[in-house]
Amino acid sequence: MILVTGGAGYIGSHNVITLMESGYDVVIFDNLELGHIETVEALRKIDAKGKVVDFIKGDLQNYNEICDVFKKHKIDSVIHFAAYSQVAESVKNPQKYYFNNVFGTLNLLKAMLSFDVKKIVFSSTAATYGEPDYVPIDENHPQVPINTYGKTKLMIENIMDDYDKAYGLKSVRLRYFNVAGVDSKIRVGEWHEPETHLIPNILKSTFSGGKTFQMFGTDYPTKDGTCVRDYINIEDLANAHVLALKYLENGGVTSFFNLGTNEGNSVKEVFTTCEKITGKQIPVDIKGRREGDPAILIADNKKAKEVLGWNPEKSLEESILSAYNWEKTL
Ligand code: UDP
Repeated sequence: MILVTGGAGYIGSHNVITLMESGYDVVIFDNLELGHIETVEALRKIDAKGKVVDFIKGDLQNYNEICDVFKKHKIDSVIHFAAYSQVAESVKNPQKYYFNNVFGTLNLLKAMLSFDVKKIVFSSTAATYGEPDYVPIDENHPQVPINTYGKTKLMIENIMDDYDKAYGLKSVRLRYFNVAGVDSKIRVGEWHEPETHLIPNILKSTFSGGKTFQMFGTDYPTKDGTCVRDYINIEDLANAHVLALKYLENGGVTSFFNLGTNEGNSVKEVFTTCEKITGKQIPVDIKGRREGDPAILIADNKKAKEVLGWNPEKSLEESILSAYNWEKTL
């Protein structure tokens, strides 16, 4: 049985599907603050080779609640998504982030050690690199996060190294670039309140009653003046987690990998692709820069390809099309 923390959220729920379809039973632990019970219900309806998904509502900041999961189920490995992830909010309210992300993870690791569970795949981020010295960013790039969110994720990566040395706890840290798209069968999707991400925000503005899309910054030193990001499809991302789990199951050492495509798209390019896919002219307001946005973030994904055998396959167009199909159901 695999414990998935944050399995009722966007990235977690897609991973639950991929895990079940890869033959794993799953227990989700989620406090439903940002995750949704409707997502859990959708996951329960999935018939994946007879695999089961259990759900336990609880909070990582409560050590007893997380221990109850280990008492109820024989956990083999953990995939840890539960975290706050809003950069701007993390800068305004660092206490909220340090308690939830860092203290919550310390409780999870403590429970793992006390129940002798020694394998964890952790949801880390390109935000641990900070302002890039060079792109594409490889895993040897210095990790100098420029916001509290990135700092919490880096602290956890460092804690995991110490826990490996002292207790033999093996971790794989997956550093995500920009995750895009939804389940191609639209069983679950992307559901944030408020939504801050580029693709859903562009798509939402195509529907009647939607807000005009706001484009943040057109004066960056990039090909067209807008920020460049590496958009990795959610299903490709979920596959990487299963490969990371198998890597640990096969005795792999603690490691870390970038998850991206090696390619960058500007905000304007994403916007134009959304117009093409929806067949609509999308209303746009040009705004100033959003604080804390680096000009260019592109992953070097060679290590994940070589070591995990990962191969991201889906295009930006496929991610946008799935996201659009999902938005139409809301
Ligand atoms: N962005 C934008 N309008 C929006 C949301 C995002 O112009 O409504 C821009 C944002 O400034 C950044 C890029 O789109 O340059 C990707 O932002 P997102 O929040 O999706 O991901 P992040 O790069 O912050 O992880």
